[in-house]
Amino acid sequence: MELERHEYDVVVVGAGGAGLRAAIAAHEAGARTAVVCKSLLGKAHTVMAEGGIAAAMANAYPEDNWRVHFRDTMRGGKMLNHWRMAQLHAQEAPDRVRELEDWGALFDRTPDGLISQRDFGGHRYARLAHVGDRTGLELIRTLQQRTVALGIDVFMECTVTRLLTEGGGGGGAGDHGAITGAFGYWRESGRFIAWQAPSVVLATGGIGKAYKVTSNSWEYTGDGHSLALQAGAGLVNMEFVQFHPTGMVWPPSVRGILVTESVRGDGGVLKNAAGNRFMFDYIPDFFRKETAETEAEADRWYTDKKNNRRPPELLPRDEVARAINSEVKAGRGSPHGGVFLDIASRRSPDYIRKRLPSMYHQFKELADVDITAEAMEVGPTCHYVMGGVEVDPDSAAAGVPGLFAAGEVAGGMHGSNRLGGNSLSDLLVFGRRAGAAAAEHASRHADRVALSDGALADAARAALAPFERDGGENAYTVQHDLQQTMHDLVGIIRTEPEMKEALERIVALKQRVANLSVDGHRQYNPGWHLALDLPHMLIVSECIARAALERRESRGGHTRDDFPTADDEWARTNLVCTLAADGTVAVRQRPLPGMPAELAEIFDEVSA
Ligand code: FAD
Repeated sequence: MELERHEYDVVVVGAGGAGLRAAIAAHEAGARTAVVCKSLLGKAHTVMAEGGIAAAMANAYPEDNWRVHFRDTMRGGKMLNHWRMAQLHAQEAPDRVRELEDWGALFDRTPDGLISQRDFGGHRYARLAHVGDRTGLELIRTLQQRTVALGIDVFMECTVTRLLTEGGGGGGAGDHGAITGAFGYWRESGRFIAWQAPSVVLATGGIGKAYKVTSNSWEYTGDGHSLALQAGAGLVNMEFVQFHPTGMVWPPSVRGILVTESVRGDGGVLKNAAGNRFMFDYIPDFFRKETAETEAEADRWYTDKKNNRRPPELLPRDEVARAINSEVKAGRGSPHGGVFLDIASRRSPDYIRKRLPSMYHQFKELADVDITAEAMEVGPTCHYVMGGVEVDPDSAAAGVPGLFAAGEVAGGMHGSNRLGGNSLSDLLVFGRRAGAAAAEHASRHADRVALSDGALADAARAALAPFERDGGENAYTVQHDLQQTMHDLVGIIRTEPEMKEALERIVALKQRVANLSVDGHRQYNPGWHLALDLPHMLIVSECIARAALERRESRGGHTRDDFPTADDEWARTNLVCTLAADGTVAVRQRPLPGMPAELAEIFDEVSA
């Protein structure tokens, strides 16, 4: 078999913020490091992040500090977050932002020259360091320049299809040896490539393409989640999928594209078809003390934040998404099945164009709507997965020797619901930790295990299997049916019969995937690429549906119509998915780790 081979200490799969930050840390620790990414370098979800990076730098509010950020993050996640991850994240995020600035990132400034910080849902103080509404672009530009300047090898448009482990495979349940490398193919030529390395960092991002309406782009098919599971790692919190409340709903070709939360942070309000600011009807008791009760108080907050409480439009995303869903279901939605988001009534055209330039152009070009003069139509869109690879908080180690995970592919940090801005900071904090730990692991495993020819041949055979079948189904049809299933049956509001039906359909879809066939040849063949992505999407979808069926309560990004309230027992329990010997997903309950008293005290000390 023709195969390109490489040898490294650390291979990072994914070139978003988490992957690049991990690669820089691994390189700086002396490891020979490579980054592999499915699309072009620089084209990762991170680049699409608009609002900003959450970090308690206290530039806008001197009262802000890591303890308040920690408390907001835990409350936003409805206390299911791993406390240690939330602690490290809150403590280290300011340094990671300052470091980015040292490396050349140009943040927006306050009048006295500090990094400007903006308001976002669930954050008690204005704390998102930002660059207009293009923060992710600046973050990636800075990390990418540094990666290239350091001479880190980059393999782009190259997809990893398997992790290789001691004992041969990495291709199935029960094969839990240490990591020896990874196997993949060049998207352009279809040729195979393998990396031998004792450490692999997964930084592959999210799973949004398993859903029909999503802000995610084509790469986000849950590859890292599935690769980790197959190598023997566990996935935690998979029932928690974040539906961002504001995606575009019209025209159909752009349905799901994100409308940043900054629109609400900067003054946009949500209204139903009757023109009512309906969010006042959906303030949960948990957040009542810190949320404005009247429109007058909410309006005053925009000019006097110290003496007024926050508008309910800035409640955490799960609350706002559910409220919009309810308004639309009750027949009070906008003409195209969303609600109205209006910033034009409060802010001047100049202000909107300066603060939200991408949003202005997005609506003008894609929907022919001038957001400086009229309201946008918006509705929930699948945006982010809180669930991911279960990792050790300090090292990002994934439980399989040599495997690490950081960024959206890792779980635990955000509990049942992520606060806006907490992803970019998560990538930097845990990307750095993962890269350093991966380098350290590699330095202790210089006696690396050679890749087995049998395992490589097996990985190649599996990748080529869709070409060997004639008359099988088309990958796009199967993906469409999976997306429809997840949208209809495992979406924002869930019920037991619907999830059971989803699981039955997933079993049938698995059989259809095993029978897919692909036409043409290996050179740039998107149908083949999708055929290789589909098993990942299916396994991740099965994890989401099984965990969601098991959790009999409503919390954060998981709402059960048949169990509509939060439950005290479930408040102490996480769910972990693993792969059973027969290839199906097993779910087991795991008690939450106990929080040390000095952190528990923060919840009394920072009054709401
Ligand atoms: P990504 O940036 O998603 O990168 C994943 C990488 O993995 C890519 O390079 C991809 O090509 C690669 N990859 C995937 N599978 C494979 C494979 N099999 N082989 C090789 N490579 C692979 N968060 C915030 O904190 N603030 C915001 O303002 C914000 N705005 C957002 C706006 C949008 C439109 C979206 C979609 C998300 C936003 N988020 C925001 C969320 C945040 O951007 C993402 O959660 C975060 O960027 C994920 O970063 P990551 O490094 O984990 O992965």
